[in-house]
Amino acid sequence: MFALANKAAIVTGASSGIGRATAKLFAEEGAKLVIAARRQAELDQLAAEIEDAGGTAVALAGDVRDEAYAKALVDLAVGRFGGLDIAFNNVGSVGQTGPVSELSLEGWRETLDTNLTSAFLGAKCQVPAMVERGGGSLIFTCTFIGHTVGMPGMTSYAASKAGLIGLTQVLAAEYGAKGVRVNALLPGGTDTPSSITNAPDAGPEVLAFVKGLHALKRIARPQEIARSVLYLASDASSFTTGTALFADGGVSINRT
Ligand code: NAP
Repeated sequence: MFALANKAAIVTGASSGIGRATAKLFAEEGAKLVIAARRQAELDQLAAEIEDAGGTAVALAGDVRDEAYAKALVDLAVGRFGGLDIAFNNVGSVGQTGPVSELSLEGWRETLDTNLTSAFLGAKCQVPAMVERGGGSLIFTCTFIGHTVGMPGMTSYAASKAGLIGLTQVLAAEYGAKGVRVNALLPGGTDTPSSITNAPDAGPEVLAFVKGLHALKRIARPQEIARSVLYLASDASSFTTGTALFADGGVSINRT
């Protein structure tokens, strides 16, 4: 049910964190992968690990804000693997933080471009290939911030991620009849390089604070989030579309 044998998948943000863990899990389940991010060396390392474990992965480095790159990723999947079944549009960045009066227009646009416009560009190129294939699954990485929690200082991050949920709903309605499912995944705090708990100036009190926000009183390992992505990518979620699925350790409902 969770197997991805003979499926071709694009994973963006694969050089690190949630994307890297998901690429490895997808490969273990039999998917053929196009892995994407800006850092070539990290992608090459991941591709080598996947191939060494008997999987299939091809790396293409680039910037997801670039429409030509979005198209090149799809062309690579179609050229190498004969089509596209799954796209995990996962790239995201917290971007500039602080009180709204101190944020720059440049910083706002940078975050919107990285988190939201990139997803639009990805979907624009990916959906036709999935329709051609008779269906597929798109997944966008969102967050509880801007959906269930208003966290001070995170204006552009929250707005961009909330926008992704709107994008998810419209695409799900637009392409459901063609067999394309579209879902948003909302992780809680996850132990990745860009987590605030791993910021250079974050002491143990930051980690303790963030853990305490979650009902489970801990943050996730990237591999745990990857399993929820696998659910949305696979036939296990065959009647699930247009959702905003929490994998957030209860941070959205916790008040203790
Ligand atoms: P991460 O380890 O820092 O990974 C971010 C990935 O995005 C990297 O592979 C990075 O690769 C890539 N990337 C960033 N900007 C890019 C660009 N312009 N073009 C191409 N690739 C780009 O962070 P993560 O925590 O796994 O984040 C993954 C997603 O989860 C994000 O959307 C984030 O908002 C979301 N999220 C994270 C948490 C958390 O607590 N960690 C919680 C909720 C949601 P390069 O630097 O090589 O380009």
